[in-house]
Amino acid sequence: MSSDLYTTIEATTGLPKVEQPLGLFIDNEFVSSTQGEKYDTFNPSTMAKITSFYIGNEEDVNKATVSSRKAFDGIWSKTSPRERNALLRKLGELIKRDKEKIALLDCLDAGKPYYSNALIDIDQIIELTEFFSGSSEKFTMGDTIPISTNKYCYTIKEPFGVVALIVPWNYPFAMACWKIQGALAAGNTVIIKPSELTSLSLLYAAKLFKEAGFPPGVINIIPGKGDTVGTALAMHMDIDKISFTGSTKVGGLILECSGKSNLKDVTLECGGKSAAVILEDADLQNAVESVAEGIFFNSGQNCTANSRIYVQKTVYDKFISLLKAHIKQTWKFGSNFDLFSKDCSMGPVISKVQYNKITDILKNVPKEVNVINDPIPDSVKGYFIPPTILTNVEQSSDLMQQEIFGPVTCVSQFSTYEEAIKLANDSKYGLAAMVFTSNIDSANKFARDIKAGTVWINSSNEEEVSVPFGGYKMSGIGRELGKSGVESFLQTKTIHVPVR
Ligand code: NAD
Repeated sequence: MSSDLYTTIEATTGLPKVEQPLGLFIDNEFVSSTQGEKYDTFNPSTMAKITSFYIGNEEDVNKATVSSRKAFDGIWSKTSPRERNALLRKLGELIKRDKEKIALLDCLDAGKPYYSNALIDIDQIIELTEFFSGSSEKFTMGDTIPISTNKYCYTIKEPFGVVALIVPWNYPFAMACWKIQGALAAGNTVIIKPSELTSLSLLYAAKLFKEAGFPPGVINIIPGKGDTVGTALAMHMDIDKISFTGSTKVGGLILECSGKSNLKDVTLECGGKSAAVILEDADLQNAVESVAEGIFFNSGQNCTANSRIYVQKTVYDKFISLLKAHIKQTWKFGSNFDLFSKDCSMGPVISKVQYNKITDILKNVPKEVNVINDPIPDSVKGYFIPPTILTNVEQSSDLMQQEIFGPVTCVSQFSTYEEAIKLANDSKYGLAAMVFTSNIDSANKFARDIKAGTVWINSSNEEEVSVPFGGYKMSGIGRELGKSGVESFLQTKTIHVPVR
């Protein structure tokens, strides 16, 4: 199929062809944007153009908002929790059916290794959709509060109404679904803006929302740039809530827009610089494998990546040599740097901008810093950065304090637990942290002392869709996933009941 609003995308690997929509998705139809502007999207592993799709502007956001409001005030606010559960259940089945197609799109668009990364992302979303499809009546209950013999109060949890969602490019389909499924389970209608770099999988999924039976206007998708579509959503006077995932800098702008417009409720999932602390009594091989996964999976483009690793002095040299050996053995770009080769565990970073940013950082490290990596051959096209360890890095330096968002981690030493916890907490971020030890008391002490929204004990970056996720400090406001993934899309109404 090929027209202005659809194209066919196929990989040369025997995987299914994808009939890819290219328009904005409003009222359950794909449409061109008001001004007809298009955006080219590229495969970061080859730099080849994949296709171009329509991107919106403020006028398109206005159209989507009218559609979402009509759907909310009309059919959607009258839909029962049970009906919403059934629609989500059907959606989960369709995602499962089309898993390979969605994974293929994220593989090409975001440069994810197909087998070791893209498929795994979609497996999580099948699980997440099943989880949320049972949540509409479970996580939406209010309380009854006794006041006196002549009075009680009760609360009702209600959806906000029209919610805007803005998501980044590192897990294109997954980040979108973390928000959409919870917002719909809670009974809101949704307008979502994917990252302009990775809009294909969500546009494809629009077909699945329609096929599952979600009524027109319940989910509208407006691809576009941050400073047009993103700002228009954040400033809109008829959007009741915004949930954003992305950088801390843009998170701050979203808050500002809310303050300047209608004080819409804001949830922010922002950046991180997560610390892993490895104590001398840890199972070192497990620590090495876990932190390598925590920094190299998805080419280090993880908000919870353990980009700072603190190792107790007594085991530091052994840790470094085990880590180097493990990288050589496990973290591979695959035959011919092909994302579809079965031995590919690492892909490129997302874009030229990210590639240039990271390579500049690595070229300009202070002279005392050791850069440990195997450089990529010059003949390789694509934005590949090798797994990289930096040692002898000053705690106060940008390398240790700023998010790099690539496969680069600083490894540093400490002597005592007190020193380790001080170093780990020395960050403006507080998204996650990891501790490796065989002593349960040390693990519990670390979990108590660290200022972070998630703590992994003897593991790193293991996600569970049924537990809350979010950040302390400048890593965000609010929580997603689990019960919180629905609750964050609900507001509380209190009713006073006199008994006369
Ligand atoms: P980004 O902040 O540049 O962009 C995120 C989204 O916001 C994109 O859709 C973008 O188009 C949009 N945007 C950009 N400028 C905007 C503006 N002025 N107004 C409204 N929207 C705007 O982030 P990114 O580069 O896409 O993603 C990487 C960042 O995301 C990293 O900092 C990473 O840590 C963070 N992240 C956080 C989590 C989490 O759950 N905490 C998860 C994934 C990624």
